[in-house]
Amino acid sequence: MELSVVVPCYNEEESLPRLVEVLAEELSALTPHFEVILVDDGSRDRTLPMLRSVHQEHPRFRYLSLSRNFGKESAMLAGLSHARGDRVAIMDADLQHPPTLLAQMLPLLDSGDYSQVVARRTRTDDPVVRTALSRLYYKMMNRLVDIELQDGVGDFRVLDRRAVQALLTLGESNRFSKGLFAWIGFPTAVVDYENVSRETGATKWSMRSLFNYGIDGVVSFNYRPLRMSIWLGIFVTVLAVAYAAWVLVDAIWHGNSVAGYVTTICAVTLLGGVQLIVLGVIGEYLGRIYAETKQRPLFLLKESSDRDAPVTSALGREHEALQELEHTRDDQAIERSDQA
Ligand code: UDP
Ligand code: MG
Repeated sequence: MELSVVVPCYNEEESLPRLVEVLAEELSALTPHFEVILVDDGSRDRTLPMLRSVHQEHPRFRYLSLSRNFGKESAMLAGLSHARGDRVAIMDADLQHPPTLLAQMLPLLDSGDYSQVVARRTRTDDPVVRTALSRLYYKMMNRLVDIELQDGVGDFRVLDRRAVQALLTLGESNRFSKGLFAWIGFPTAVVDYENVSRETGATKWSMRSLFNYGIDGVVSFNYRPLRMSIWLGIFVTVLAVAYAAWVLVDAIWHGNSVAGYVTTICAVTLLGGVQLIVLGVIGEYLGRIYAETKQRPLFLLKESSDRDAPVTSALGREHEALQELEHTRDDQAIERSDQA
């Protein structure tokens, strides 16, 4: 298998027919040895029956169906862990990730210089507010986290086997894939494309879910918010001590006065606010530790086009994936020494 294309699908009955048509045409022009893995992420519309008939009609289109809606991250992971190709592409079902771009991306991967080729979209048709917020977010993020995240770079990308195995070895259950893709490293090439608007169906992202996603991004990849809460605590404490000293000196100098109601209230509310923020930050990390310790699978399959598909998540395959990664590394070392 030369190329696997993983497509997470959640309530995509409107986008599917066009997607299948375009993919079938584009991919067969690229290579005869391709497969498409459509992952139904617990859709509530006709997505699953449609996937069944797509598989009947085009056997190269395989499908997996998750037992409920696990979210795009899990759907992508399910697809990645079932992909058999030497190269694996990930794209959205709504054709916002133009499959024609694969013709530009694959040669870069094949050149051998890169393990990941990512597509970066321009922000032409985006709402102004969202664009501005995104820009601000990425500026802040890159100050905060230790890996570099780029604006406009999403999940549309092609990975070689090595990168896929590397991703599958990361066993965390809180998956912020943008960060994971960056974390695994490997040489990465970028291809730009013009932003495409969603033609059919509705986006599954609200402002609120984007905001939550943003917090995930910060918390998944560093401990700096914890460190920052310590600094904030120190800062407020120093202020409070200085203020107390001043009040004390003032009382000794001018005698005790009843005034100070305003300052008391201000101090109490300010401190209350700071404490809540810091507690929230700690709670955020604690919650993640709780989620990780449960070691739940990241998805469960309820149906699949192949009978022998493992129904567990990639977590169970972690060890296997590590070994495979080891092999690719060894192979390459041997190849290199052969050449030398
Ligand atoms: N998706 C998914 N599970 C979800 C939400 C979304 O598999 O819970 C899929 C969806 O079907 C689509 C892709 O993720 O293929 C991107 O979703 P969407 O187009 O809504 O996001 P946007 O393009 O607006 O970022
Ligand atoms: Mg979309």
